Amino acid sequence: MRASQLHLPTLREPPKDAETISHQFLVRGGYIRRVAAGIYSFLPLGVRSMEKVKRVVREEMDRAGAQEVFLPAIVPAELWIESGRWQKYGPELLRLKDRKQAEYCVGPTHEEVVVDLVRKDVRSYKQLPINLYQIQTKFRDEIRPRAGLMRGREFVMKDAYSFDATVEGAHKSYKGMYAAYNKIFTRLGLRFRPVEADTGNIGGSMSHEFQVLADSGEDAIVACSACDFAANVEKAPLQPSDWADTPDDLDLPHAVETPGAKSIEQVCKLLACKPEQMIKAVLYMADEAPAVAFVRGDREVNEIKVKKALGCQALFLAEADWFVKATGLPPGYLGPILPDDFEPSRVRLIADAEIAGMATAVCGANVKQQHLVDVSPSRDLAHLTFADLRMAVAGDACPTCGGALQAFRGIEVGHVFYLGQRYSKAMNATFLDEQGQEQVFEMGCYGIGVTRILSAAIEQNHDARGIRWPVALAPYEAVVLAMGQDAVITELAAQLAEELRQAGVDTVLDDRDERPGVKFNDADLIGYPLQIVVGKKAAEAVVELKVRHSGEKLELPAAGLAGQVAKAMVLGRAGQTLTADLLR
Ligand code: ATP
Ligand code: MG
Repeated sequence: MRASQLHLPTLREPPKDAETISHQFLVRGGYIRRVAAGIYSFLPLGVRSMEKVKRVVREEMDRAGAQEVFLPAIVPAELWIESGRWQKYGPELLRLKDRKQAEYCVGPTHEEVVVDLVRKDVRSYKQLPINLYQIQTKFRDEIRPRAGLMRGREFVMKDAYSFDATVEGAHKSYKGMYAAYNKIFTRLGLRFRPVEADTGNIGGSMSHEFQVLADSGEDAIVACSACDFAANVEKAPLQPSDWADTPDDLDLPHAVETPGAKSIEQVCKLLACKPEQMIKAVLYMADEAPAVAFVRGDREVNEIKVKKALGCQALFLAEADWFVKATGLPPGYLGPILPDDFEPSRVRLIADAEIAGMATAVCGANVKQQHLVDVSPSRDLAHLTFADLRMAVAGDACPTCGGALQAFRGIEVGHVFYLGQRYSKAMNATFLDEQGQEQVFEMGCYGIGVTRILSAAIEQNHDARGIRWPVALAPYEAVVLAMGQDAVITELAAQLAEELRQAGVDTVLDDRDERPGVKFNDADLIGYPLQIVVGKKAAEAVVELKVRHSGEKLELPAAGLAGQVAKAMVLGRAGQTLTADLLR
């Protein structure tokens, strides 16, 4: 392919709305263009990279025994009403009506459609297991579409759904997909980690996210430094603390004046204590009733854990006014020791298990402008319900082996989920087992963010000049840069490009009549893994190679080069990082 004929509109300046590196480079490199918030057009380079993701995904899904289907993007409301999600799914679901006023949605995910398909055609255990997947455009009306392809409203997903006769069978399907995902992200050349993820209200331990490690990632992950444990902080369970003994000379809790000091920092300043010596109160509306979660002053509450501990359906941070009306307690000065005349059923109190391990603590006094000091949780707070309520952080003990947890940021590019009978039961999807008994399918679902992968790969692989694609994701694996319009140069460049093409290397020849600086800048920005510069030494048939990832440069004779490059690219396509050593 010749660059002079390609639609490669690179830009010097990033678009104003692009805060993240990947967003900037995708637009500047001529990969995507914004059409509306969270909605993008893909230009030729963008399509090429996206197609490369799809190809790897298809190959590994097919190899794992899944079969490709193509389901409709527009889904009739009936199916979603049957599963119960039509009412539950919030404003992320784009709902529409046709000319007859029949209701539809644009599928944000396709459990309903695939369950309907399978329940109609699969009648016997003999047809099981079956795993169907598709690669398709999804729509989710995200509140905050951001970072280009990272969180779009319209985006491309690979979604797969397994159907099994038994729980054991479903676990095996899950493991098969887990293994396939490891292969896919390895081949794509990404540094990633599968981590345990929260399973929402479905329960069980069978959900893993595949996280691309990048400082700019939205997700917080903890991983053990001593064993294999890794989890999203939302999920990571923490070990309970032992009760701390009450110090011998400790007074009984007593109130001190803390006028105007409502925040942890303000109280700490006034009483000269540290956040880790305080008990922080977070006010909630749990299924319409007031609840308070207490955690140590330096910790963050994990709402998923709070929701589980309270056993509630809906959990929201409470508005102060509403909370005062419902309980009469003063926000800002709330603590776990309620006044004697307070009717305990008016508010639910739960405390993070770590609080039990505090020797002494400072907390709100439930009286305006006052806090309690000399609180000993083992002596004074035994009336509370303790549970694991906080976010895991670096340094916490691993729940599996006790080793120290380390913290990472990640971008979720894939998700495998054991669903059990959540959808099949609601939609009455059954088959006949060996005994001729009707049974409900056991299901799993498995997503990959095809377009998000492009953003994640760039967040992980870039420098100030542009993208440094892993070979497997690059729109072209190599660019031949003809540095000048002399016949020796243009002919050698054209010949090399042709040899590379014949050797199976995805190559573009930059034959544009542009200054070398422009060509170098574009090549660095676009991120071709290998630049082959045909210039000064063209007459000697010697060219310069630049490996984009490492920045290494080397000079090699043009003769025999294509074969060597082709060999290196085979390794690159399998996920290996391209280096000068692979080219020598
Ligand atoms: P997130 O927590 O990031 O919103 P999710 O849990 O809603 O993701 P799933 O429903 O599991 O995501 O979707 C499967 C995959 O689709 C995700 O792992 C992610 O890679 C991708 N994905 C989800 N939402 C978006 C989006 N708005 N834009 C781009 N990709 C997305
Ligand atoms: Mg989401």
